[in-house]
Amino acid sequence: MRYVDRSTEPEPPCLKDPSNAVKAEKLGAISYYTLSARIPGKKLASYNFSAYGEFEVKSSLRRLFKNKCAYCEGPLTGDMDVEHFRPKGGVTEDDQHDGYWWLTHSWSNLLASCPHCNQSRRCHLVPQHATVADFLKLQSTQATASYGKANQFPIQGQRATYTAQDLTVERALLIDPTAENPELYFKWSREGHYSVALPTAINLWSQSRGLAAIDVFALNRLYLVHDRTVRLNEMRTQAELILGLLEKDMRDGGNQACVDEAIVRVRELKSAYGPRTWYTAMVKAFVEEFTAALRERVITPAPMIVMNDFLPTGQDSDDAVPDAEVV
Ligand SMILES: [Zn+2]
Repeated sequence: MRYVDRSTEPEPPCLKDPSNAVKAEKLGAISYYTLSARIPGKKLASYNFSAYGEFEVKSSLRRLFKNKCAYCEGPLTGDMDVEHFRPKGGVTEDDQHDGYWWLTHSWSNLLASCPHCNQSRRCHLVPQHATVADFLKLQSTQATASYGKANQFPIQGQRATYTAQDLTVERALLIDPTAENPELYFKWSREGHYSVALPTAINLWSQSRGLAAIDVFALNRLYLVHDRTVRLNEMRTQAELILGLLEKDMRDGGNQACVDEAIVRVRELKSAYGPRTWYTAMVKAFVEEFTAALRERVITPAPMIVMNDFLPTGQDSDDAVPDAEVV
């Protein structure tokens, strides 16, 4: 998950200047949820919304998220779900809550998501130290448990309602990648064969949020881990080539051709986590660690350009990253 600057894409006109369909749904929902006869302690069935999924909303979300899922960063080559960060039709953790229906057409509540992150689907999760044999065993076994966000929205504070809409008191555990920098909450296991997402442990709060995201979005589901590992292995191959070139340079007592090629390959590695490629949070973490380690290895005096190329880049995407959340 990477930060995405929502201000780079204008709010779709059908939401900003509400279209007749959006206006009608808003009014219909207010009437439904506030005037309906209620059975005390029981939530209403979800109102039948559809106008939030108009074509211009979908195309705006695809542009904003560069055809990637907001949560797993997988390619949205097929279906794209218009995801409500705060679920519109109910809340899994509170069976009496009607859901954040009043945010159904709010641009700030909409994200582009793949169906696997957004919907509850049966799948396997890959443990941190899974071997190839473990992976193949999972692959050949029918999954029985379901994972994926659906109506999950865990909080540690006071849940907002239509009559008490202050979202800041919720202390939401899930991370909205358009509102804060998700990179603070994840690290990526690389000791094992597979690229498995893990929470950072800066403090208990950040750890809880990282864990919640990994759990709710199923960020370690089988085929996502597979695709992320393919990407990781591409990086590993590049890194090994660079190390080989630098070792040859040392063995030869100086070999400018090897250094030049290593520089080119380091630049290629750094460009591998631009905003338009897949699984860039993992790739960025890999490249930053690798280039930092590489810099330590360059013991002999080297031209300044070499040193600069081995430094991790600071700003790497189209999107400025916000400061860490104050907790
Ligand atoms: Zn996804």
